Amino acid sequence: MTSTRTAGQPSVPTAPNGPVGVALLGATGSIGTSALRVLERQPERFVPVALTANGNIAALTEQVARFAPAYVGLVQECADAPDAWGRGPGCLVEAATHPDAQVVINAVVGAAGLPATLAALRLGKRVALANKESLVVAGEIVTRTAREHGGALVPVDSEHSAILQCLAGRQPHEVKRLILTASGGPFRTWPADKIGHATRADALKHPTWQMGSKITIDSATLANKALEVIEAHHLFGVAYDRIEVVVHPQSIIHSFVEFVDGSVLAQMGVPSMELPILYALTWPERVPDNGVPSFEPVAHGALTFEPVRHDDFPMLGLGISAGRAGGAAPAVFNAANEVAVAQFLDGRLSFGGIAERVSAALCDLSALPGYSLDALLAADAAARAHVLSRTATES
Ligand code: NDP
Ligand code: MG
Repeated sequence: MTSTRTAGQPSVPTAPNGPVGVALLGATGSIGTSALRVLERQPERFVPVALTANGNIAALTEQVARFAPAYVGLVQECADAPDAWGRGPGCLVEAATHPDAQVVINAVVGAAGLPATLAALRLGKRVALANKESLVVAGEIVTRTAREHGGALVPVDSEHSAILQCLAGRQPHEVKRLILTASGGPFRTWPADKIGHATRADALKHPTWQMGSKITIDSATLANKALEVIEAHHLFGVAYDRIEVVVHPQSIIHSFVEFVDGSVLAQMGVPSMELPILYALTWPERVPDNGVPSFEPVAHGALTFEPVRHDDFPMLGLGISAGRAGGAAPAVFNAANEVAVAQFLDGRLSFGGIAERVSAALCDLSALPGYSLDALLAADAAARAHVLSRTATES
């Protein structure tokens, strides 16, 4: 581990004249609405000043009426949107760079979130990052931008929040291993020959978390855990050989850190994203909050662990190999997965087809150059086109 990228940055941002302004990108999604609940409970510390959505104008309009933000952005064209709102994909960067926002919560899904992450970090802001795809597509560029401009990159993802909490006060040379927990998803106990034919409804039934549809499918294929291993590698500067994954069906232990003396720390809590969202805003401090039920050990009962079924869930291995290969490979993995998941959700691809499409894209495209942001975005576009053309040819 070279450094914890989040260490050494300013503590809770402060504004001399009142609460800290927060730009919330992806306000209408699962993380976005959880974040608004957290912000609403902390009015003395935080105030939403910018909100964006993709196309859900009804939900965004309600949020605007409730929070009266200084900036509102809608990505998709919509004739009913008020003239004062920002429009098009550029509204994410406008919200992220809004002068009233000291903190940006990036809760957009997919690589579409990357430009706003970079723009906020270039201005030295704190980015509370749910959008793990930013780090998967361009992890080196994102972490370098944070370092060079004094921005803080603080994870919202529960596993990475857990690791950050376990690492508090420790030095990089004291860390031996990171162990990320995975719920195992809805197909954890399914026989291998059934998984490839799972339906959309089967795959959307996550056992422990309520999330947006893309990450729910990623949790069913275990692609989400691959994205998280890559995310952990970049956030904490830990080599891939020292990052492991274990299945923990109850989702109470959010991850472990093993130290060089053999001690292991874990962070625990009921499965609610409101805890890591709040911590990403207040890190390294903790503030009182009572929004989430307490963890009751006896009522909860046993915590169990299982090995990952790598052969039956090939997306985990594919993604970790792409991370190890580096260059454009993680961007290809991510983009191919985004398109394949969208096709699965639309009924155009089988569940097993997701890994087939991603594997084929990696085979053909992972050697593309990845030395610059433009090169990575070109690889992302090539991977999307690759999956689209395969599915079009077959249908
Ligand atoms: P959702 O699908 O619930 O929400 C996504 C949000 O982003 C919505 O506000 C949506 O707007 C907006 N959006 C979608 N596509 C675009 C786009 N192309 N450009 C701009 N905005 C867009 O997703 P989640 O909240 O579940 O996930 C968000 C991110 O957080 C993902 O990266 C996910 O991996 C990560 N994450 C989520 C967790 C969870 O518990 N949900 C846990 C850990 C990480 P609209 O509503 O208008 O469509
Ligand atoms: Mg997670």
